[in-house]
Amino acid sequence: MINSSLKTLSQMLAKKEISSVELAQAFLNRIDAFNPEINAYIALDQDKTLAQAKAADARIAAGNAEPLTGIPIAQKDIFCANGWKTTCSSKMLENFVAPYDAHVISRFDAAGAVNLGKTNMDEFAMGSSNETSYFGGVKNPWDFTRVPGGSSGGSAAAVAARLCAAATGTDTGGSIRQPASLCGFTGLKPTYGVVSRYGMIAFASSLDQAGPMAKSAEDCALMMNVMAGFDERDSTSLNREKEDYTRDLNKPLQGLRIGLPKEYFAEGLDANVAKVVMDAVTEYKKLGAEIVDISLPNTGLSIPVYYVLAPAEASSNLSRYDGVRYGYRTPEYTDLMDMYCKTRAEGFGEEVKRRILIGTYVLSAGYYDAYYLKAQQIRRLIAQDFEEAFKHCDVIMGPAAPSTAFKAGEKVDDPVAMYLEDLYTIAVNLAGLPGMSIPAGFSNSLPVGLQIIGNYFDEARMLNVAHQYQQVTDWHTRMPEGLA
Ligand code: GLN
Repeated sequence: MINSSLKTLSQMLAKKEISSVELAQAFLNRIDAFNPEINAYIALDQDKTLAQAKAADARIAAGNAEPLTGIPIAQKDIFCANGWKTTCSSKMLENFVAPYDAHVISRFDAAGAVNLGKTNMDEFAMGSSNETSYFGGVKNPWDFTRVPGGSSGGSAAAVAARLCAAATGTDTGGSIRQPASLCGFTGLKPTYGVVSRYGMIAFASSLDQAGPMAKSAEDCALMMNVMAGFDERDSTSLNREKEDYTRDLNKPLQGLRIGLPKEYFAEGLDANVAKVVMDAVTEYKKLGAEIVDISLPNTGLSIPVYYVLAPAEASSNLSRYDGVRYGYRTPEYTDLMDMYCKTRAEGFGEEVKRRILIGTYVLSAGYYDAYYLKAQQIRRLIAQDFEEAFKHCDVIMGPAAPSTAFKAGEKVDDPVAMYLEDLYTIAVNLAGLPGMSIPAGFSNSLPVGLQIIGNYFDEARMLNVAHQYQQVTDWHTRMPEGLA
């Protein structure tokens, strides 16, 4: 049951083979057993969870269930959920109880899904290993000495260890796709603007996008049907016609043009990861796809550009944590300025402070043109690379991360090594495109993800491409031994 697809769970609920309360309880029991070690969840509230499950059972009995009614979902602790502690894994928000629901949360509530709890993450979503969390690191369920990736590391571990049926994440530079690769599950970052950012704690607003983290492409499609859609409370939310993301899942892939960017198979990529990715591409050829060699010439500039723009936006977004309105306030201070300084010095972790410093610097009057403006111009060029590439192919494939899960502690003292984790994911955010990672195999018993990048609003096609692969492979059904 813990390994069942959302569709199967939904059918079991409909046939009353299991109740939502029983299902939620089964996951809560697993959380009890494994979470003390894995640290995927940082807030649990059994009463709230079971009350939602009970309500879902009533709804199923009344005959007006939707596909996710009664399904237990883990929510990244970046989403405000009314009455739930919402911390973004920061001391700054350690005791913050959200007074309202993020759009994503209210969509899941309306669908009748059950909130299992809030998941651990890198502080304010800054990181690639979940090690910047104020609440401690998260263990990779495949190997407890390794990181799950980040920033959505708690959701990632929860999905991989089957401590939830599915989870939500957010991806500013790779935080859904890189952990999906390192933990061996399916994660999708939608086109920018498809999922509302309302109530999602802001890191870099022009890049942040929420998406599903689940076992399979089909599960992600069902999640997208709930998460996506216009919301007037987010000024960048796109007003588009409602889509059914499952609609193309079963289309054959005959004639699909897959672009392989030479820059994604160059220096920096682990040879075993490259092999797994190329084996997946071979599988696609068998499914009728054609391979096209493409180039994304500005790939190498994406990390430097991101580390100007994301910190710039973060420095502005995080200015709201001043000890006055909500969140942490230093206990002792002499005057207002002293209160601001101590509050921010004590409330933020090291990586967050590093970003605020960089961001403030690149936005300062003397350096704005040299850094921020220049980075914006290169961002345009990066988007143009993709525009050109999509004239020759339907989807782009490559690795999602340069290596498999690395050891905890290995990169904490080397921010640049950590930043390079997102070599293949960041450009997608800069261009606002959708991207996903799907399980494609293993290297030394650790999962490897295949990244699929689509054109704007091509999520249904990407899910189709992923689903067809998952019909002929079983990587996505594998789970870590010892956690069954
Ligand atoms: N690892 C990247 C960073 O540290 C991306 C994080 C994310 O996508 N939230 O900023």
